[in-house]
Amino acid sequence: MKLKNKVALVTAATKGIGLASAEKLAENGAIVYIGARNKELAEEVIKNIKDKGGIAKFVYFNAREAETYTAMVEEVITNEGRIDILVNNYGGHDVKLDKTIFDTTGKDYFDAVMNNLQSVFLTSQAAVKSMKETGGGSIINISTIGSAVPDLSGIAYCTSKAAINSLTQNVAAQCAQYNIRCNAVLPGFIATKAALENMSQEFLDTFLKNVPMNRPGKPEDIANAVLFFASDDSSYLTGEIMEVAGAFGKFTPMYGDFVRK
Ligand code: NAP
Repeated sequence: MKLKNKVALVTAATKGIGLASAEKLAENGAIVYIGARNKELAEEVIKNIKDKGGIAKFVYFNAREAETYTAMVEEVITNEGRIDILVNNYGGHDVKLDKTIFDTTGKDYFDAVMNNLQSVFLTSQAAVKSMKETGGGSIINISTIGSAVPDLSGIAYCTSKAAINSLTQNVAAQCAQYNIRCNAVLPGFIATKAALENMSQEFLDTFLKNVPMNRPGKPEDIANAVLFFASDDSSYLTGEIMEVAGAFGKFTPMYGDFVRK
């Protein structure tokens, strides 16, 4: 129960990493708001959390309606009087439109960058104003290993997440004096709907060949990192950009060729 009585909001929390993070925070005593566009799905998540003794509530959020970023955070603050933990998990990646610099249009590129960047900026801006008043808080941004290890495709996704890493560090710098921490988690290949449906089997097999820990990540692997940054276990850490990727991209580039032929 590391988060007893803390108020948390997780964006896009009906599936995958967002769902696992919401469950993990609730298991640890937080009152968790499920930011979701689909109320029915969110209510199922809330019921499961409540059945296990946790506290969870719904707040409407749709990334296609930009005003909901701020409105969602403000609703949490109005209801609870505070927000202690913000997990910016939402992130978009349209693999059909977002390819290389040769075959992506400027409009598609900037739309995608805007979509991802505002999902962190607008929520964080609303949250830090309240956190400053209430004595502090923790913001955790879900980025990607592709923000640190450039990819052969997905130029908007990777560069928008790299900007999110920098946004994380800038928010951390500007908010440290108010006891507001801001850290990023960079997942590698995590077996979620988004990864399994968007990536070809060939890509996933090749990627896995270069993951020294020799398995796809689980949403819980990321949720554990989220809990770490949300709790006092990381009380003296801010501005961290933490890879949780089974050591993908960390060792010799020849890893896949020599260790897993
Ligand atoms: P996922 O399992 O496919 O879940 C996506 C979530 O986003 C769902 O809850 C979905 O809600 C929600 N969502 C989609 N469009 C939305 C919209 N317009 N408004 C509100 N919610 C919306 O995805 P995931 O793999 O967990 O990804 C979560 C985060 O991790 C993203 O930021 C992603 O970039 C990052 N990440 C993932 C991986 C990976 O390998 N999986 C790797 C690196 C980074 P519905 O239930 O309504 O569809």
